[in-house]
Amino acid sequence: MASIFTKIINGDIPCHKVAEDENFIAFLDINPNAKGHALCVPKEEVDKLFDLGEHMYLQLMQFSRRVAKALEKTVDCNRVGMAVIGLEVPHVHVHLIPLNSMDDMDFSSKVSMTDDEMAELAAEIRQKLQ
Ligand code: AMP
Repeated sequence: MASIFTKIINGDIPCHKVAEDENFIAFLDINPNAKGHALCVPKEEVDKLFDLGEHMYLQLMQFSRRVAKALEKTVDCNRVGMAVIGLEVPHVHVHLIPLNSMDDMDFSSKVSMTDDEMAELAAEIRQKLQ
């Protein structure tokens, strides 16, 4: 069965997209640790990060870097943190999280944003992409 992220990639369920190219998509996490928390996802559905082919792995890092730079320009933060977990969704994704304190890397501590706020923020991030 297709992962929830494949359904997003195929346009079957909505997301707040911030970037997309031939091989990757980035969108805002639906349950963010911090404002601007984004996920970078390869369109190829692979469960574990280190099972990606080397080329795709390096390209994912390049794509994530581009999104992180746009996040830094958009969200007031000290830096952008990166995490790879995958215990909930078995489809590779890089979490990019704007950080102001260590608590922002705590996945049990969440911020609430309305759908309109997420849409507005995604549009701002898209504008900052190079
Ligand atoms: P993990 O697999 O543990 O790295 O966590 C999966 C992440 O995907 C969580 O932070 C969820 O909030 C996020 N997530 C799950 N479904 C969606 C969705 N439909 N749109 C955006 N983010 C999602």
